[in-house]
Amino acid sequence: MTVRGAIVGTGSIRAVCLQLTFLCKICECPFIVDQPYGLYTMPKKCGVSDECDNKNYFEPHENSDTTLMMDCRKIRLQDVQNYDVRYRCDLYL
Ligand SMILES: [Zn+2]
Repeated sequence: MTVRGAIVGTGSIRAVCLQLTFLCKICECPFIVDQPYGLYTMPKKCGVSDECDNKNYFEPHENSDTTLMMDCRKIRLQDVQNYDVRYRCDLYL
């Protein structure tokens, strides 16, 4: 996808977590949960095994090797090609 436009604002650089490792407190095994756009997402159920029906007791492990962090900067783009349809979008670079 190609986007042309003017950058009308930038945010500060922050670390965004894309994949967070959680520890199931029942079977005590770690598993990875995708964090879409860095949005903190708790697991809905234990990701280790179907036989474990833990849905509530998880512990996030931010310092685990399998946790994926990324430095992101949010920028705001304003379309300059089409004056009728001005739209804004937020991108993570
Ligand atoms: Zn479990």
